[in-house]
Amino acid sequence: EVELRRISKMYERQQVVNEVSAIIAPGEFFVLVGPSGCGKSTTLRMIAGLEEISAGELLIGGKRVNEVPPSGRNISMVFQNYALYPHLTVKDNILFGLQVRKVSKQDQVKRLEHAAEMLGIAALLNRKPKELSGGQRQRVALGRAIVSQHPICLMDEPLSNLDAKLRGHMRTEIRQLQQELGITMIYVTHDQVEAMTMGDRMMVLRDGEVQQVGRPLDVYNHPANLFVAEFTGAPP
Ligand code: ATP
Ligand code: MG
Repeated sequence: EVELRRISKMYERQQVVNEVSAIIAPGEFFVLVGPSGCGKSTTLRMIAGLEEISAGELLIGGKRVNEVPPSGRNISMVFQNYALYPHLTVKDNILFGLQVRKVSKQDQVKRLEHAAEMLGIAALLNRKPKELSGGQRQRVALGRAIVSQHPICLMDEPLSNLDAKLRGHMRTEIRQLQQELGITMIYVTHDQVEAMTMGDRMMVLRDGEVQQVGRPLDVYNHPANLFVAEFTGAPP
């Protein structure tokens, strides 16, 4: 369980995240959605431990983790630009985190084979990122998250660099992976379609403030305000 208790982020005098609260259940696919600049990435980075929390409390599994470094949070994160190492092969990109964590060679091979099979990238393991298509790079980034075997995964607009067809395909693929692995997902997007089709629940943000939290269809059918209605494209 991931609990955000009135999490805020202040930059100098500007408050970009304003007392955001949520309780995300184990195994839930939770989508953070809202227009550019509303504070989605900042919120995700605070959960990951990549950004200091200005005020409020973050609890993971009931424990306060505000001061716990990223490596101690049992969380993996997939970034928008994939953040692959250009000089490493696909295999080494996927295994990098495990090597740092000193996971045994035998275990690394097992996890790599499993992830490569799930993602259909077994034939690409010796290539460098620049020899891959956008969708293949995306799969490598997912592979890195899968082999980590962390129970919580954060994704920041992971599909925004892909063309429309591949995006549709990867939506389904990510959702299936999340269910097969039984992990908790916190997924950031500014795309209404992704929010409506992928999430168990969605949280709509505007200027750092929560507008509404709920199941996509409920939000669509009963928008809390005009902003949410326009954002989800619900008829007036
Ligand atoms: P996008 O959809 O464009 O990625 P976002 O919802 O992820 O947007 P954030 O990146 O969280 O938005 O940014 C929220 C606000 O915080 C923006 O107004 C941004 O300009 C501001 N901001 C982000 N990082 C900093 C920083 N290091 N210093 C000052 N302001 C920042
Ligand atoms: Mg962002």
